[in-house]
Amino acid sequence: MEPNNLSLGFYPTPCVPLMRLSKELGGPQIWMKRDDQTGLALGGNKTRKLEHLLHDALASNADTVITAGAQQSNHCRQTAAACAAVGLKCHLLLGGVEPASFNGNLLLDHLFGATIHFTGAERKGERIARIAEDLEKAGSRPYVIPYGGSNPIGASAFVHAAREVKSQLDELGLSIDRIIFPSSSGGTQAGLIAGARMHGLQSEIIGVAIDKEEAGDEPFAHHILAMANGTNRLFNKSDAFTLRDVVLRDEYTGGGYGVVGRLEREAISLTASLEGILLDPVYTGRAMGALIDIIRRGEIAKSEVVLFWHTGGTPALFPYASELVDSDSEFLGQRKGPRA
Ligand SMILES: *Cc1c(COP(=O)(O)O)cnc(C)c1O
Repeated sequence: MEPNNLSLGFYPTPCVPLMRLSKELGGPQIWMKRDDQTGLALGGNKTRKLEHLLHDALASNADTVITAGAQQSNHCRQTAAACAAVGLKCHLLLGGVEPASFNGNLLLDHLFGATIHFTGAERKGERIARIAEDLEKAGSRPYVIPYGGSNPIGASAFVHAAREVKSQLDELGLSIDRIIFPSSSGGTQAGLIAGARMHGLQSEIIGVAIDKEEAGDEPFAHHILAMANGTNRLFNKSDAFTLRDVVLRDEYTGGGYGVVGRLEREAISLTASLEGILLDPVYTGRAMGALIDIIRRGEIAKSEVVLFWHTGGTPALFPYASELVDSDSEFLGQRKGPRA
């Protein structure tokens, strides 16, 4: 695959131990890869993908980028910022209807100068082709980035991220048994699966599914598998993966995408109050909740080392304020006041 020379973030992102959370849970040692600190517009895993996607957009002489997501999409916010940084116009297709006031990621999309289309129940880019066609007719040269920035080009960024973390771990003299993170459009997982094998990272790669699968959808694991093999081909490696390489925990989808429950609230509260680190309500809160549950069930030996990949998303904390505070007194109260 061609070298990528578009830089939008600051790397390597830190890799840090979560000592107080590990101690509280009495389980394995937990480390965190801080991709919430990639540096572009409040950070997140999409910065990495966008370096490759916008490189491709510029190489194909596009002047406009179109992408899609939920109303509080981190991917759309990062895309809007990245387009601003390189001088591309940006059209976002966001689920839902226009709210009375803009907050969180939506506010930031607006500040970055993106053109926003509200698309109701269609938050996964169903209308992208139509809007691309309209823009073309009006004389633009649009470049379409799929929902979540997940295709082999976007996922290839996580092949490089696997190499990045491997060299950090080598420097620390640390070997990681498992890497766990939220998985939603699948590019992060596909790239890490491909990258781990290419760079000799021996960890189990575990995605925590964020979206409920709907009847008639292609099973998410199949989608990830196809993307991992497609990513491999970009690096001139032949198909190598099978479904056994796609480890997906799909029992934590709770009330569905973007619905905050007890699992997410406790994870956000524990990580904030014990580590001073913010998770997000939609993705990392759910994935950390899953990790905490898996540890409490005793599925991971105390002697193991686990890496939680913090994929970002913290700007969405603010629009979710009422779901995080009102019903949260059970967890907030627990941690009030100084602790030994
Ligand atoms: C997009 C996103 C994810 C999921 O990554 P995929 O590559 O789409 O699976 C996880 N966490 C956050 C904060 C995200 O914005």
